[in-house]
Amino acid sequence: MRRESHYDLPIIQARLRRDAKSPMTSAPTAAGHSNSTSTHHGLPVPITVARGDGIGPEIMDATLRILAAAGARLAIEEIEIGEKVYARGNTAGIDPSSWDSLRRTKVFLKAPITTPQGGGVKSLNVTTRKALGLYANVRPCAAYAPFVPTRHPKMDVVIIRENEEDTYAGIEHQQTDEVVQCLKLISRPGCERIVRYAFEYAVQNGRKKVTCFTKDNIMKLTDGLFHKVFDEIGAEYPQIEKEHWIVDIGAAKLADSPEDFDVVVMPNLYGDILSDVAAQLTGSVGLAGSSNIGSQCAMFEAIHGSAPRRAGKDSANPSGLLHGAILMLIHIGQSDIAEKVHNAWLRTIEDGVHTDDVYREGTSSKRVGTRAFADAVIARLGQTPVKLQAVRYQNTATRTSSATRRPRATKELIGVDVFLHWDEADRDPRQLGARLERVAAGLSGVRLKMISNRGVKVYPDGFPETFCTDHWRCRFVSTTADAPINFESVLQILAAVHAAKLEVIKTEHLYRFNGVKSYSLGQGE
Ligand code: NAD
Repeated sequence: MRRESHYDLPIIQARLRRDAKSPMTSAPTAAGHSNSTSTHHGLPVPITVARGDGIGPEIMDATLRILAAAGARLAIEEIEIGEKVYARGNTAGIDPSSWDSLRRTKVFLKAPITTPQGGGVKSLNVTTRKALGLYANVRPCAAYAPFVPTRHPKMDVVIIRENEEDTYAGIEHQQTDEVVQCLKLISRPGCERIVRYAFEYAVQNGRKKVTCFTKDNIMKLTDGLFHKVFDEIGAEYPQIEKEHWIVDIGAAKLADSPEDFDVVVMPNLYGDILSDVAAQLTGSVGLAGSSNIGSQCAMFEAIHGSAPRRAGKDSANPSGLLHGAILMLIHIGQSDIAEKVHNAWLRTIEDGVHTDDVYREGTSSKRVGTRAFADAVIARLGQTPVKLQAVRYQNTATRTSSATRRPRATKELIGVDVFLHWDEADRDPRQLGARLERVAAGLSGVRLKMISNRGVKVYPDGFPETFCTDHWRCRFVSTTADAPINFESVLQILAAVHAAKLEVIKTEHLYRFNGVKSYSLGQGE
């Protein structure tokens, strides 16, 4: 079965319901054999599967066996990723032909891969996220106490991490001997999509509260935008409680009392760190799965790696990947199967049937390998947990939204920051200031407003105690207070600075958007 059109969940769900009585079809896998799961009702949904490296093939096999026994309606296409592909000299770890399958099925169930050591190799995860536009990373982190020991038995948090932007745009430069930079890019459409996704997720999963973490007391423009969008979009969801924490104290609270949080949305870097913290707080990183969702495609996986030392020993826990697969089933509209699998898994855990990593004398009753664990889950399909809370899933795949475009604002250029590489005169800012004042004196209509070093104003009136690197930001503005300048003035400044034998490394324009100054001041400016 081929679907050319863009993945549209409600339409697929409607079709599944309409076709409820039609006979099953099974689609061939890329390997040429039928791997469709057993018949249930509705058409099988094409998905792409990669067995990965290390423990990947074993946990994928266990997961697919459980899904098949539960009656998941899947038509599986297999692709190869990871070690073997890297070894063929493909630095992306994925063959070009595999993208065809991913673009066709738009649903990717992925086992962990081993990332080769050394340079020149790109992270497959980052490539996949960016290439397929998977902007939301969703990681449910629930405790399974007392069966998996944790200090936070009541925690049940979902971390929703922005997945494409922030410092992960991967735009880095070395500009001077002493200073390197990483650009942190935050876009309004990016914020809107992830924040809306978090609220939609909360509504559709019966969650009560969405918390936002940012560092907007320091990064007023970038994190400030994320927070602002959170407030704007949050207002559209009056039934959901909303709160915002500065990420440092928010992280401390999350680590101390995760049971106080419900859904937490945050920019990429904080989300990367805190989603691991949250998973660890549940007692085992090895149990968590995650989804990476875009408006057209989605990828589902365990959060752990390929555990190469456990490979081939039938000792890995397949639960993380199984949880990824449960999220996938919900996404493709097979919530009934997701519920059946999840409840059977919960029952297995509370019956004390545990793999090595979770096994504890006293709470566990039976130590099993990967295959026997899968068999134990299969044997419990149709059962619900007695002590742990059973899950209920309606058809609750979270709606995604496409990015909305912003109309152009009234934008005025009111200055320019000229960055210099300068290491003369014992790095005395007064010396640099004097040279630049002479440069400005030769120009008409602009003046030097200040010089900063690593964001701290050092001229005029700097402190001699401030440590200065060889990276200087020199701010030029109009001689008339707050008046616009034009681009020709910028070119004249650059030419004059260059003629004064100072080394320009980059410029940043200072703008007013719709009358509001839209750049940060130097500390002390
Ligand atoms: P890891 O998650 O593979 O292993 C960390 C520890 O957890 C090990 O002790 C391992 O035995 C244990 N563990 C992990 N999964 C387990 C499971 N399912 N059952 C039982 N025990 C389990 O992390 P690592 O050792 O840092 O990385 C190994 C490789 O995996 C590296 O090449 C790394 O780059 C890669 N990796 C891949 C992904 C991915 O593909 N999404 C994610 C993380 C790491």
